[in-house]
Amino acid sequence: MNEVNSIKNVGRVHLGKGALASLSGIIDSCRASLDEPAVIFIDSYYTNDRVFLEKLKLSEIDKCVFIPTVEEPKTTQVNELMEMLRNWSMATPCAVVGIGGGITMDIAKAVSNLYSNIGLAEDYQGWDLLKNPGIFKIAVPTISGTGAEATRTCVMTNVDIGVKLGMNSDFSIFDAVIMDHSLTSTVPQNQYFFTGMDAYIHCVEALSGSHRNIIGDAYCEQTLSLCRDVFLSRDMMSEKNREKLMLASYFGGCAIATSFVGLVHPLSAGLSVVLGLHHCVANCIVMRAMKEYYPAAYLEFWEMADRQKVEVPSEVCISLDDRDFDKLYEATIVHEKPLKNALGSDFREILTRSHLRKLFEMM
Ligand code: NAD
Ligand code: ZN
Repeated sequence: MNEVNSIKNVGRVHLGKGALASLSGIIDSCRASLDEPAVIFIDSYYTNDRVFLEKLKLSEIDKCVFIPTVEEPKTTQVNELMEMLRNWSMATPCAVVGIGGGITMDIAKAVSNLYSNIGLAEDYQGWDLLKNPGIFKIAVPTISGTGAEATRTCVMTNVDIGVKLGMNSDFSIFDAVIMDHSLTSTVPQNQYFFTGMDAYIHCVEALSGSHRNIIGDAYCEQTLSLCRDVFLSRDMMSEKNREKLMLASYFGGCAIATSFVGLVHPLSAGLSVVLGLHHCVANCIVMRAMKEYYPAAYLEFWEMADRQKVEVPSEVCISLDDRDFDKLYEATIVHEKPLKNALGSDFREILTRSHLRKLFEMM
């Protein structure tokens, strides 16, 4: 067991069906004066949903930016958003809000951080590189699983160097989170499963790793228990189960903030960088090759997928050539911390190029 000496959590959590109604009050409490705007990033799923947008009760001075979710966040995208926002107003907004899934919440975190740390998004990819706290940041998750609402990172891909890495820092933790499970009723079934399983996989990896601590373990156990309730039940999207999964996502995020992931995430990052697959579906694809490493979770995962009648994509590496497999190797092996956590410091001897290729060929 490792000691954990200090943990930062989300400032305040607003919980329950209808909690979204508290958003405008929280933003108003951040305004030093009535003419101080907030920046609101909203998942583009809501672009034409007037009923939803009216429910937010935003002020006319607030700036709404809809975030497309076809691709996951890129450092260039975050830099362009910063430039657009600075052209819109030289003044610093009172708060930055992210309403959506991991993509939109991560963009909100990164933008909040860049308002108070000069430079570009890529300058802060890594561990504890931010110098100053960002501006007040608020998350409203509309899909559950990644735990982005609770973690101390915001994941972005730097395409130039082929690296997917977050701004890992206590400054990346949200000041307020609104967890309103009524928002997740519209998520498509497959997406609900893929994203939800991110919470399950985070905790399976953390509990199997060497970098463990009593607080992380407690969060993990609770997350896994909630995920089992949800995904081994008949209707994973019942109201009760959506409420449970929102909690599981949050606890899973807290867990990962004090521990590390393991083998699934580095391989999944490889699939994202090389094939452009989204994080959560990529994790589920990686589970095809995890029998040897996480035998119990492997069986349980596929039982859950069967129970929920979810098709996980297969044969995604079937048409790749040697160069592609080299890229997959590079984009995987770079994730030293989780790989060491899963396999020990000689992980390179276990995950040789040929062994990794075999694993990718199982997907
Ligand atoms: P997402 O943001 O990728 O969205 C997935 C899809 O669900 C999108 O099509 C979106 O429009 C749709 N959607 C979201 N809410 C909806 C709703 N209520 N109704 C209908 N459709 C809805 O979602 P995700 O899977 O939560 O996030 C993945 C991202 O999170 C990746 O970019 C990944 O890198 C990141 N991530 C971050 C952390 C972190 O700690 N910061 C952890 C894990 C993953
Ligand atoms: Zn994840």
